[in-house]
Amino acid sequence: MRLHTLTLQPLQIPFKTRFKHSSAERTVTQSVLVAARTDSGCVGLGEGCPREYVTAESIASAERFFAIHHNDLINTVHSIADLRQWTESHAAPIEHNPAAWCAIELALLDALAKEQHQSIEYLLDLPELSGPFRYTAVLGDGPLETLTSQVQQYAALGFTDFKVKITGDPSLDNAKYGALHTTVKNPRVRLDANNLWSKPDQVLAYLDAISINPSALEEPLQALDHTGLNTLAAQQPVQLILDESFLSQAHFAAIEQRPESFIINLRISKMGGLLRSLSIARMAAQKKIPLIIGAQVGETSVLTRAALCIANICGDALIGQEGAFGTLLLERDITDQPLTFGKNGLLAIDQLVSSAYGLQIAYALKNIPALQDE
Ligand SMILES: [Mg+2]
Repeated sequence: MRLHTLTLQPLQIPFKTRFKHSSAERTVTQSVLVAARTDSGCVGLGEGCPREYVTAESIASAERFFAIHHNDLINTVHSIADLRQWTESHAAPIEHNPAAWCAIELALLDALAKEQHQSIEYLLDLPELSGPFRYTAVLGDGPLETLTSQVQQYAALGFTDFKVKITGDPSLDNAKYGALHTTVKNPRVRLDANNLWSKPDQVLAYLDAISINPSALEEPLQALDHTGLNTLAAQQPVQLILDESFLSQAHFAAIEQRPESFIINLRISKMGGLLRSLSIARMAAQKKIPLIIGAQVGETSVLTRAALCIANICGDALIGQEGAFGTLLLERDITDQPLTFGKNGLLAIDQLVSSAYGLQIAYALKNIPALQDE
């Protein structure tokens, strides 16, 4: 493969409804889109979601990272072997720019696979997708009325598995759990605190004061407070989901004392793309640590599709999938046939266009400003 152009642009797509949790509130996507166009005319797309409070990245830092490495990538990456080699030899800068790298890597993988008329799975030596994939409902930290109507919509679709973004105030949250249990029979509920507390005792007090037994609790303490998380894990039985506190392979060391207490939330953008995510998924399987394949709010079908690659090989280790909102949340997607969940939270792979190769998405060029000017 010879790259003709490689471009990165901010991707700002308005939301149909606002989404809030304790670290951020958003009405538009905060993402970057990379387009890799080859000499033979194939176009690969990649997406990353830089977040200050997750990986200390921003749109500006992603643009800087891209500008530094743009020429080298065009001159160096002609095959999947070259891409693997580049990733390994640039592990340190990628570690600090995982979302930026994710967008670049996905665009290159998509373009490489398309040039060879392959799926991305074939290119990466992975089994082809089998599906269907089952998604969890996610309830944002909004007013009770909003949550109640969201629960009713999810319940009408047949969802029974919920993730709730909590406020940390037991009386406010108990009202939400009440609304959930009134509408859905025996829901499975996990909670996401988005780094609300600073001490394990505060978390224990909250768990004592709420009206439900959550199946798991995500990020109760400050991001990367692994000492606190291990203390909390030793003091109560609810499994802890690591999201902002698990950003790379190096973080396996932080949970090796009691791996049975933890679940990893693997988000492709946060982990720095598919190759790094695959390594983490394989290492988690060896250590018998369960996974949630998560998403950033506002992901388009590019990141939804990329995550299927990983979810497809997890088997029983996968305890939940998040995302696949497509145009349920976004005003538009990068395709006119967005990948979204349907009844019972299921996403069927017949939504993919197998003859499109690569990520198997038929891109709608009119929705992608970066590609219109070329
Ligand atoms: Mg989270």
